[in-house]
Amino acid sequence: MSKLNLKISKPNDAWIFHREEVYTTEDGYCNIFVLLDAHSAFCFGQVASVELPTQVEILAVFNEAYSKALFWPKAVIASKKDPNLETLSAACRELKIALTLLPPQDLKKYVEPFSSGFREAITGAQSRQTPSEEEEELEAFIPDSYSPCTCASGKKFRFCCQPIFRELAFAMCAAEDGKLDEAMRYMKEAEAKVGATPEVLCRYAICWSFFDKEKCAEYSRRALDANPNHPRTNFICGVDARLAKRYDEALGYYNKALENYPAECRYQLNEVYNNIGTVYYDLNDLKSAKAAWEKALVLLPSDRMVRENLIEFIYENPDLPAELREISPFIRKFLERR
Ligand SMILES: [Zn+2]
Repeated sequence: MSKLNLKISKPNDAWIFHREEVYTTEDGYCNIFVLLDAHSAFCFGQVASVELPTQVEILAVFNEAYSKALFWPKAVIASKKDPNLETLSAACRELKIALTLLPPQDLKKYVEPFSSGFREAITGAQSRQTPSEEEEELEAFIPDSYSPCTCASGKKFRFCCQPIFRELAFAMCAAEDGKLDEAMRYMKEAEAKVGATPEVLCRYAICWSFFDKEKCAEYSRRALDANPNHPRTNFICGVDARLAKRYDEALGYYNKALENYPAECRYQLNEVYNNIGTVYYDLNDLKSAKAAWEKALVLLPSDRMVRENLIEFIYENPDLPAELREISPFIRKFLERR
């Protein structure tokens, strides 16, 4: 089921069932499921819903497509990570069409022509052939709705911290800009929506870190009381410990963050490895610093800071022995991507 062994050389060889996500002020995040021709990326039809569509709704889109294409495809292709696979398989079984599942990155080339037009229509943003560093970072930073939440609650992002994503992001920006009242207003809005969850308590701590160290410590403590494994709180405790030169303690916090961030959280994991590298650098253990920074680079190749750290302090550092300065072929691929 996983390997694409059908040839896509003309319309209707295969159709793609694909999900886009849009943010609307009335409904919050909304799924748009579309049916595309794999050869032309022509969109046959769509179903939009806040929840996942039902089998009846999926069948209706297929029937609409059939009325336009006048043929059934040889296969339907969907992402292995599609949250709606069960319903989609049932619909395909009913229509007697084979369903092929591909990793999301293999599906990209088929859906990109549609997606870029779609995003342009929604946001007015210009689409580019290759994503810029900012876009790559943004993509890694905002989790997919159906990925495990970055707060490690075990719930999917959509059913956990996504409803307060905007409030938290605005609160962080306001706090960074020195606007305490505004930051607190956004935090209270977030808290009103989901309660004083470990993530909310941790974000209060981050806001206060710009204004009042004691309040920051108090909120960090409360977040860890609520969940000792909360990855972001462990991360910020690591930052504090490192600033106070308590390096072992910092590494302990950072390792706990690493253990608890879901594997999908590339942006956050990159941040932790980056900081671990810096602690080892402070400790003058450059072998461990190199290993940590290289992990950070692999997680987020667009990260300019980690790239510069590696080049300046490791690969081109004349004080290091040759074997430590060596760049493995695997890492070289990531360095040469830019
Ligand atoms: Zn969460």
